[in-house]
Amino acid sequence: MNLILLGPPGAGKGTQAKRLAEKYGLAQISTGDMLRAEVNSGSAIGREAKAIMERGELVPDAIITAMLAQRVSQPDCARGFILDGFPRTVPQAEALDRMLREKGLALDHVIELRVDDAALVERISGRFTCARCGEGYHDRFKRPRTPGVCDVCGGTEFTRRADDKAETVKARLEAYHRQTAPLLPYYAAQGKLRVVDGMAPMDEVARQIEAILAGAGPEAPPPTQT
Ligand code: ADP
Ligand code: ADP
Ligand code: ZN
Repeated sequence: MNLILLGPPGAGKGTQAKRLAEKYGLAQISTGDMLRAEVNSGSAIGREAKAIMERGELVPDAIITAMLAQRVSQPDCARGFILDGFPRTVPQAEALDRMLREKGLALDHVIELRVDDAALVERISGRFTCARCGEGYHDRFKRPRTPGVCDVCGGTEFTRRADDKAETVKARLEAYHRQTAPLLPYYAAQGKLRVVDGMAPMDEVARQIEAILAGAGPEAPPPTQT
């Protein structure tokens, strides 16, 4: 099974991709995480990407598609993968279609997490991550059970992303609406696009995604009381 999670920054793509990867044994591919690893290692790609990411703009398609082509050839992708944060432009989506065709693979679903811009700012400004295991948290919506201690690994150091500050979030949302939102009609035209309510609590979003993967149609409205 090969999936794309599509949605603006802070929509919950990483949160849901991680759960799905564990549940279905799929590889989680986050181009944002891959780029941050390149920046931390000081590689040539990292040096080129750093300033662009700090401005909240998109890294050039050629760099991203080359990085992704390598990644989907790794053995852990054989059972399928979840793309989280890729594609982000129409040329990236076209490159992905070519890449999959060459490998004889197909996309099963493109799932849009729909969230209002106002909620995104709150999501992003409260986001933090365990420095040791990468588990994601939120100041309001997902605090560690014991304050200051990671639920998963017991780590006590947490990090906040340099680009998760209010000024940069605005640029990232603009980049989403201008460059990434055109992917919605692109995948709708392929009959692949499914929408979930990303404003719902995390467990409910997960439930809606699982219903799609189980092949359920759109939900019937609740019965009216007579
Ligand atoms: P979020 O999920 O909050 O949108 P990501 O971690 O996916 O953030 O991405 C962080 C930054 O990395 C983006 O703002 C952009 O600069 C860069 N980036 C990640 N994925 C891509 C991509 N597919 N194309 C271009 N730039 C990307
Ligand atoms: P993305 O990968 O799309 O940028 P994340 O998965 O990192 O988004 O989520 C952004 C922040 O919002 C994180 O701090 C996460 O814990 C929190 N979050 C994710 N999903 C929800 C949700 N459905 N309701 C409330 N907060 C959420
Ligand atoms: Zn941890």
